Amino acid sequence: MKVLIVDDDPVTRSLLKAFLHKWGYEVVIACGGTEAWEILQEPESPSIVVSDWIMPDMSGLDLCRKVRQAQAASYTYLIVLTGKGHKEDVVEAFEAGADDYLIKPFDQEELKYRIRTGERIIKLEQKILELAHTDFLTGVLNRRAFMQRLEDEIHRATREHAPISLILADIDHFKKINDQYGHNTGDIVLQRFARNLSECLRPYDFVGRYGGEEFIMYLPNVKEIQAILATERMRKSVEEMKIILSNSQESIQITASFGIALSCRGAGESVLSIIERADFAMYKAKREGRNRVRTAGKQQEDMRTISKHPLTSLRTT
Ligand code: GH3
Ligand code: MG
Ligand code: MG
Repeated sequence: MKVLIVDDDPVTRSLLKAFLHKWGYEVVIACGGTEAWEILQEPESPSIVVSDWIMPDMSGLDLCRKVRQAQAASYTYLIVLTGKGHKEDVVEAFEAGADDYLIKPFDQEELKYRIRTGERIIKLEQKILELAHTDFLTGVLNRRAFMQRLEDEIHRATREHAPISLILADIDHFKKINDQYGHNTGDIVLQRFARNLSECLRPYDFVGRYGGEEFIMYLPNVKEIQAILATERMRKSVEEMKIILSNSQESIQITASFGIALSCRGAGESVLSIIERADFAMYKAKREGRNRVRTAGKQQEDMRTISKHPLTSLRTT
């Protein structure tokens, strides 16, 4: 875990750095509040900060206030380490948003365990976020987390004018599996299906459970032919998958239908519209016999057809 040391005194900085290394932390150094604030804006920035109070530019307490006002997506644990030792000082630091307070000269064991406390809290938050983002049954992203990540990725692709693909995958006749083998076996099939899709993707692609037996995937930086080949690989791998039931010799095989929507970012199409096109292509795959991959046509073409057939009625036809 990374810890940010903020101090204008070089001797304290190198002392803290040596201790933190010894305790197994990755250390990032800032010589003042302004530099620390800039570091905290970067991606993958430290989650624990040990900051001095009095510094020439931005003070440690101003840094605490700024961090708390920013309301970032993840928590920053702030420890103020200062020579100021009056009761009022301590209260003022906590009011500014500090999580802990230690007076210089400090005891190294005490600092170590105070940092350990911060580490426990950060890890707990990470665990909670992970649970909140994950689909309980299949372990892939849940719909909300997928949509959040998708929004971020689409903004990035728009800035970079990069092509992207969205793929919807729906298990064919899944209801029959539940009816024939029971809901628990249906759940196992869903888990295996999700794992299979994940294994077919590259590290920077991601998959989410869109609902029931329908999954959604995002593939950045792919041209049409690459997206089709990747999806065809997934389709084939699903078709070849044998799910062996634990209480019998029997194995289940499934197929799935896939719809791809491609978008060249910069064209200004909304996320919802890309998903609608992928959904339309998936429906086309179902209608044409299932166990196949279909690609959505150009945005305007598909939207004309979609507007004639509201999605809900398309699904059940
Ligand atoms: P199609 O080929 O047209 O997609 O047919 P289908 O049977 O797969 O589609 P349909 O929408 O008729 O049925 C989907 C079924 O998925 C119905 C629902 O009970 C089941 N399902 C949804 N979520 C879960 C789940 O978490 N676990 C299990 N076991 N079944 C689920
Ligand atoms: Mg289905
Ligand atoms: Mg479905």
